[in-house]
Amino acid sequence: MDYIKAINDYKQLQGHSALQLRAVLFDMDGVLFDSMPFHADAWSKVMTDAGFNFTREDVYMNEGRTGADTINTASMAQFGKPATQELIDHLCKKKCKIFDTYPPTPRMQGSIELVQKVKACGLTPMIVTGSGTPTLLDRIQSNFPSLFDENHIISSFNVKRGKPYPDPYLLALERGGLKPNEAIVVENAPLGVTAGVAAGLFTVAVNTGLLKDEVLSNAGASLVYPAMQALCDDWEQLFSILK
Ligand code: CA
Repeated sequence: MDYIKAINDYKQLQGHSALQLRAVLFDMDGVLFDSMPFHADAWSKVMTDAGFNFTREDVYMNEGRTGADTINTASMAQFGKPATQELIDHLCKKKCKIFDTYPPTPRMQGSIELVQKVKACGLTPMIVTGSGTPTLLDRIQSNFPSLFDENHIISSFNVKRGKPYPDPYLLALERGGLKPNEAIVVENAPLGVTAGVAAGLFTVAVNTGLLKDEVLSNAGASLVYPAMQALCDDWEQLFSILK
């Protein structure tokens, strides 16, 4: 992996003279938790039943959008008009109902080890997610005990505009008292990568889904790893270059 080129390209694009790493901003679904296969099953079923052409790949392409945004984007593309509020409410409810029948989502392999390594390096780990389930904080604290400060978890409760807008990442920088060149992002979805890059951050993609690597690099990812475990295994080397 050409780290030096990736860092030089980033510095040139964003106009920074150096990276001075102080924090790592982790996305949640598909990064810390292996939850995307369940989301893909539930969304593709609900949308297909409602008459949309909507594959599991479409779910990964839309990952990061709110439910309403996902439905509207599909409706505009296929029927040339936004969905009614009634349809949006109905489909979101149905999707949640299906999702709730699945077992609790496991941690992504390598994720807790990576967060522990990040902390051991003296860096602050933070979470930036578009999710907004009421049990979010409990789930994080029980799966990643004592690793994330509550104030360092940004969810859809905290911002009006979610990914692909940079707002959630900008709020994370503000909460952490960080400049854009003092943090990196770990994301698995193209829209999440877009959000991180738009906030001026060096963005590392982990391709834990079924999209091609190019989709993530075309969205602006500086580096693409095949899995969280691969990033975890490579962390010492990456950190030695990033700090
Ligand atoms: Ca994600």
